[in-house]
Amino acid sequence: MTTPLQRQTLSGQVLLPSGELTPARLEFDRQISTILPDSTAPTHRLILPGFIDTHVHGGGGADAMDGPQAVRTLARFHASHGTTTLLPTTITNPWENVLAALRGIRQVMDQGGVPGGADIVGAHLEGPFISPGRLGAQPPNTLEPTPERIAEVLALNVVRAVTIAPELPGALDASFAMARAGVRIGVGHTRADAETVTDFLNALNAAGATTCATHLFNAMGGIEGRVPGPPASLMADAHTYLEVILDNIHVHPTSFRLACTASRRVMLITDAMRAAGLGDGISELGGQRVIVKDGQAHLESGSLAGSLLTMDVALKNAVKAGISLEKASRMLSEIPARSVGLSDRGMLEPGLRADLVVLDHDLNVLDVYVGGKKINVSPGTP
Ligand SMILES: [Zn+2]
Repeated sequence: MTTPLQRQTLSGQVLLPSGELTPARLEFDRQISTILPDSTAPTHRLILPGFIDTHVHGGGGADAMDGPQAVRTLARFHASHGTTTLLPTTITNPWENVLAALRGIRQVMDQGGVPGGADIVGAHLEGPFISPGRLGAQPPNTLEPTPERIAEVLALNVVRAVTIAPELPGALDASFAMARAGVRIGVGHTRADAETVTDFLNALNAAGATTCATHLFNAMGGIEGRVPGPPASLMADAHTYLEVILDNIHVHPTSFRLACTASRRVMLITDAMRAAGLGDGISELGGQRVIVKDGQAHLESGSLAGSLLTMDVALKNAVKAGISLEKASRMLSEIPARSVGLSDRGMLEPGLRADLVVLDHDLNVLDVYVGGKKINVSPGTP
């Protein structure tokens, strides 16, 4: 299957793991072989590690629930916006539909991934193990995380991240079982209070699990001085990764900056739905009608229905919010890589995968390489 890739070179302002942006020449095939100083490198061209999106439902008209072909479409669409690794994310649905979607994602991985698309390293199971009282845009098909269901999921060997509401019966045992299988445990779509969330995180962290906030601030209670709510518990825990949908609709830039001040584990996600990249019109999420207008997606009830965000725009929004390019890049690459146990990517370093995003000075995507292969970034090619 694997044909050797020709050695390639790219020159520009290269973002090193130290945070330094330096004129350099990158040599790579599937992996980066060397990074050499290059005083002639173009100053207008930035080379960053590829973006890693651990929470993305769809894009370019496709949704992870639709099966393998849709998974390929969304992987190509997001790659054209700089995403080189992603976790297709399922939505709460009748159990058989969820399992079928997970099998579809596994099938794409087993067939060697997506030519011209982002690398798929597993699925994010978002629902059905969530609170019926904090659905957000999820359909009301919630279930309890029974040992039988967890065993069914783990047998598919595809889930790398899960969202779970800690207050559900069996949530902690289910989380232990999934964490033992290497799954990142995300707290989200929850009505729990701060104490319940803190106890849940402490128990999991003590057992060596990787914990996370599923779209911090969304589908959970808010923060008040005397009633801290889940966001405070999640931000106060130094071990917990924090997903943020930085489209300036789901989260206010000031709330984002608060999270960045509180924690070194903020990471950006899109939570994008199928209408990302398609413009205004009628769309669909989990079998529900979605109205897309003026860059926002809503259910008929008025709830936000996922986002239309892409990772390149998330990077721009982070920089606009006052975060340095170096720090913002970490939130899109290194930190999400660590959150799902990927040590072969997330930074530009010899020996790591050649997952690269080339940007102009305004942070527009010029070129993208996935495992050293250049992909098509022309507009209108989802
Ligand atoms: Zn989601």
